[in-house]
Amino acid sequence: MTKLTDSVQKPYRYFGGEYNVPDMNKPCDVRFCMCVADSYEVGMSNLGVRILYYLFNSIDRVVCERCYAPFADYENYLKSNNLPLASLETQTPLADFDFVGFSLQYEMCYSNVFYMLELAGIPVLTEERGEDMPFIVAGGPCTVNPEPMYKYFDFFFVGEGETPWREIIEDYKKMPECTKKDFLRYVDEHYECIYVPSLHPAVYEGDKCVVAPDCRVWRNIEADMNTTFCPSTQLVPNMEIVHDRAVAELFRGCANGCRFCQAGFIYRPVRERTLDNAYNLCVNLLESTGYDELSLNSLSTSDYSQLMPLLDRLLPYCEKHHVQLNLPSLRLDSFKGKMAQGNRKSSLTFAPEAGTQRLRNVINKNITEDNIFGTLADAFGEGYTSVKLYFMLGLPTETMEDIQGIVDLAVRIKQLYRTVKRGGRDCKISVSTSTFIPKPFTPFQWCAFAGREDISEKQKYLADALRSKGINFSYVDYDCSELEAVLARGGRSIADAMYLAYKDGARFDAWSEHFDYNHYLRSFAETGVDIGKIVGAYDLDEVLPWDFVDVGVTKQYYKREYNKAMQAETTPSCNKQCNGCGLKKYGYCQNTEGNRHLK
Ligand code: SF4
Repeated sequence: MTKLTDSVQKPYRYFGGEYNVPDMNKPCDVRFCMCVADSYEVGMSNLGVRILYYLFNSIDRVVCERCYAPFADYENYLKSNNLPLASLETQTPLADFDFVGFSLQYEMCYSNVFYMLELAGIPVLTEERGEDMPFIVAGGPCTVNPEPMYKYFDFFFVGEGETPWREIIEDYKKMPECTKKDFLRYVDEHYECIYVPSLHPAVYEGDKCVVAPDCRVWRNIEADMNTTFCPSTQLVPNMEIVHDRAVAELFRGCANGCRFCQAGFIYRPVRERTLDNAYNLCVNLLESTGYDELSLNSLSTSDYSQLMPLLDRLLPYCEKHHVQLNLPSLRLDSFKGKMAQGNRKSSLTFAPEAGTQRLRNVINKNITEDNIFGTLADAFGEGYTSVKLYFMLGLPTETMEDIQGIVDLAVRIKQLYRTVKRGGRDCKISVSTSTFIPKPFTPFQWCAFAGREDISEKQKYLADALRSKGINFSYVDYDCSELEAVLARGGRSIADAMYLAYKDGARFDAWSEHFDYNHYLRSFAETGVDIGKIVGAYDLDEVLPWDFVDVGVTKQYYKREYNKAMQAETTPSCNKQCNGCGLKKYGYCQNTEGNRHLK
């Protein structure tokens, strides 16, 4: 037998033993294994997984364990010792659980789902898994378009899991004699947020969906963040992870309505914690973990209505207990002096997303040049010496004028620094671009993903123009973005190719050092997938593969926003007015109705 410590780097990745692991020895009728199809370091940093892990473990006679995608050294160790992939907490093989649940946070993790199932000795196809196999289920943001993975999961959970998952597990406990098929029919009938693909056929002509599945799947929305289950602690790992700190979620949703941002639509509406609730959560997290760093997380933390009073209470606490406070997701228009104090670093990161006001209006990034320069002048005055700026290329209606706008903006920021600092060393400016991906459930879902030549011409233009001005420039690889676009927009027609790509060697696709587009190009060619059709423009009235999922925002609203975008007209933030996206009729944004997860 190969000795683990001789052949595997960082065995902590596979054996857990973290501080704050719940009781794994309690009497138990249901075993759930929560999986993240990425490394331990990435998976441990996910807030949604943390919440559900403690939620399942809080249920009577239910134990929830974890499993992450192993790196090649541990894969070799398992194979050379004929061991199946097992949970961290008790080393139970995944095949012995009742449920194996994957959190699908990004499309590029799909190949790792196959990788983990095969390492666990679990057939990847739903139809090949018998009664002796666990339910293989998925949740997370990617489930708003579950179709590319429809034949691999028994069911998908769409939306926020806290309330319905508890009920689903309680129902399962009451049905010990039930067959898997019967239970699938039961959850399909009783839970609006559950999608059982094997019960709902769809019709495709090539890569075009012509008839979407005959069901309506509702994204579950937890109505009140103050009463929804929220653990007041978190696991403290024995090794460094990506976000190695206490993380408090201040609110869900985002009021800004940026038209490119899927999260802004699929996490609507804004639901805030009260000031007391948020403060107590922060303190409890710090005290139960011993962390000396705290992140205040949300899609747009600076929009939290209680942020200033919260900082008034938290900053003295943090100072007294030597805790560093981090504020990610800051928007340019709301970066204030107090936030800068809590976030003291030498480098600022901002995402104007587009180089001209016209294009920022198209994408509804409601930030003006006055906001940008006013904010940066304050920040430079506070001592910041370096700025990272993020932009997207290939946005709808983009022209070379918008690309030149990126250069002009960066140069003017450099000049602003000189004016504010009056001499001394120059400020360091970095511009980073990604290629815009038109995702489902955004007003740009009908738009085309930009062509390779178009993007490479713009990247070259920026590289020459920015570097000649002493500004750093980097960009995200086009192949990687194109694949993400295919996986995000594809339907059932790409499902076979997904598995073939894995068999061809694809895994850890979100990691640039592992990503190889050729695995997919070969599998798309072999299965006759036409990438151009999937990433091309769609008619406003054609059937989309994800049409049967209802995130609460009406299609009319997306169309209205699309048409406004084409006219470069903006839509105000939901904090200023309700723009009629459709959620109000379900009682959200007026506190008149509770959760709507039961049919
Ligand atoms: S219902 Fe109105 S306020 Fe609520 S998310 Fe939709 S547009 Fe915004």
